[in-house]
Amino acid sequence: MQAELLSVGTELLLGEIVDTNAAYLAEKLSELGISVYHKTTVGDNTERLVAALRISLARADVVLATGGLGPTEDDVTAAAIAQVAGVDLVEDEATAERIRSFARKASFARQASLARQHGRGLLDKLLKQARVPRGAEVVPNPVGTAPGLILTCDSKTVIALPGVPTEMKAMAEQTVLPYLVRRAAPEGSAVIVSRVLRLAGMGESQAEAEIADLIRAQTNPTIAPLAKMQEVHLRIAARAADRAGAEELIAPVESEIRRRLGDHVYGADEETLEVVLGRLLRAGRLTLAAAESCTGGLIGHRLTNVPGSSEYFLGSLVTYSNEAKVALLRVPEEMIQRHGAVSAETARAMAEGAREACGADLGLSVTGIAGPTGGTAAKPVGLTYVGLAGAGETAGEEYRLRGNRAMVKERAAQAALYVLYRALKSRAPAEVAR
Ligand code: ATP
Repeated sequence: MQAELLSVGTELLLGEIVDTNAAYLAEKLSELGISVYHKTTVGDNTERLVAALRISLARADVVLATGGLGPTEDDVTAAAIAQVAGVDLVEDEATAERIRSFARKASFARQASLARQHGRGLLDKLLKQARVPRGAEVVPNPVGTAPGLILTCDSKTVIALPGVPTEMKAMAEQTVLPYLVRRAAPEGSAVIVSRVLRLAGMGESQAEAEIADLIRAQTNPTIAPLAKMQEVHLRIAARAADRAGAEELIAPVESEIRRRLGDHVYGADEETLEVVLGRLLRAGRLTLAAAESCTGGLIGHRLTNVPGSSEYFLGSLVTYSNEAKVALLRVPEEMIQRHGAVSAETARAMAEGAREACGADLGLSVTGIAGPTGGTAAKPVGLTYVGLAGAGETAGEEYRLRGNRAMVKERAAQAALYVLYRALKSRAPAEVAR
């Protein structure tokens, strides 16, 4: 089955907003094994939207449109779909009733503000959202008033969802994706389940090389590597009659991949590296402090994204200047002069300094050259050292990271978190604290 995406909104064409809806839907469709060959963006203009719909429907089985379903004049998606299908717009009674009850329940302040925005006849305007092309199936909106719609005509289907990302996602997950799974699945395979293995400390090509034979032999489940900004994901997707059947197909492939890639597979699905680290630190009853130079606080930011991180994360000292490294971390001044601020020696001293300053079990540090300036032949942009104190001998690891300044910073934080992860995984918790 082939699908196309159609993003509706003049704001998208002006560059005022980024099309995150299409990115979300494209990822979901790829997870379901539905091919997407084209994506179109069109402004809030009926004529151009009608033309875009006709082009997309000529190529694909399903067109997924987002945006332009609201109550205002420039929301023209439902009318354009009706025009393409050659039907009129009719009021969906259940949706109209929902909107009336919403208007009745809205507090006085909310009504006043809505009235200011929309002028008189607010209810009439909202009721416009209940008008859908004749024959369309209404997609309920659990978080807003604008419903979505699914209209099939001559074996081609248009699905329209509101532009507001939270509404679009809720409706996609609740109604549209299950609908597409049913429609895309061959007889006897009603569900597609996918498992994402998250890898760190290993690039995409290296990961692919380790499992090249599995990728070549794939049928069901399929295995797809995805390179993210700072890590690699492997998606294993299986089709089966039910969820348990799909999971059964995934399990042996997952365990073979884990066997080959070892601790490079740090987590699965939504588990981030910082979540896994939190679990390991908690299990080992260990506390952590960080000293950050080129990452400017990113390590602390990521660790504190995890609720409850105060249990094990004591703090991060952002010591950007040499003076701060000396004053706050007690890095010897002559060490910096002799080896440089970006060196394994300084990284080790920073890690020890952070550990001592905060009274933590473990100290993690990072120092590097984020660029674009500041690099030399001996110490190029991207050169980064990670230090770890408290896990046996204090380590100082060298990395050569690629990318622009923001990427080097992100990758340096990831490298540091991965060093910590490896240390926590490779030792018994009691030993780590020594
Ligand atoms: P509403 O009921 O709010 O009018 P709508 O279906 O008419 O919803 P739009 O008016 O097109 O949707 O967009 C509403 C808001 O949703 C936009 O201002 C924008 O912030 C966001 N939005 C719309 N389209 C996209 C998109 N493709 N990606 C990300 N955000 C979007």
